Amino acid sequence: MPCEMCGKEGNVLKADIEGAVLVVCNECAKFGKIISRVRAPIKNKKSESQPAKKQVQTVKRELLQLIVEDYAKVIKEAREKLGLKQQDLARKIAEKESLIQNIETEKFVPGMDLARKFERFLKIKLIEQHEESHQQKFKAKSAALTIGDMLSLKK
Ligand SMILES: [Zn+2]
Repeated sequence: MPCEMCGKEGNVLKADIEGAVLVVCNECAKFGKIISRVRAPIKNKKSESQPAKKQVQTVKRELLQLIVEDYAKVIKEAREKLGLKQQDLARKIAEKESLIQNIETEKFVPGMDLARKFERFLKIKLIEQHEESHQQKFKAKSAALTIGDMLSLKK
């Protein structure tokens, strides 16, 4: 509630100022006689709690899928374990040999679809689910459900 004399927001009180009862701040109340203290408006309390609520809603969506950092090494090693040349692997997963080359030399980061292809064929893990750490402070249970939902959708 703003002070009726100077307009300043903050703690206000009721005061008799030259015969008029006004809601004023501590400063302006000095010009008159204080009648009663006015409670801090409830509005202030609400606006304090709102940002927190909003945060919960936005962090729910911060689930990230990332390609592992050492994807090139993981793919190369898995391929070699299977005794396949880049050319062989390319043929098996119906991609170009140059693509395999570029991926194994970290010139190209595979997208999610391609990464899944590698994962399935080479039986490796290339995709990591990441949650922003601050999200875990909130509903860990519902976040876990979100991961499950996402996986079942992608299948
Ligand atoms: Zn004032």
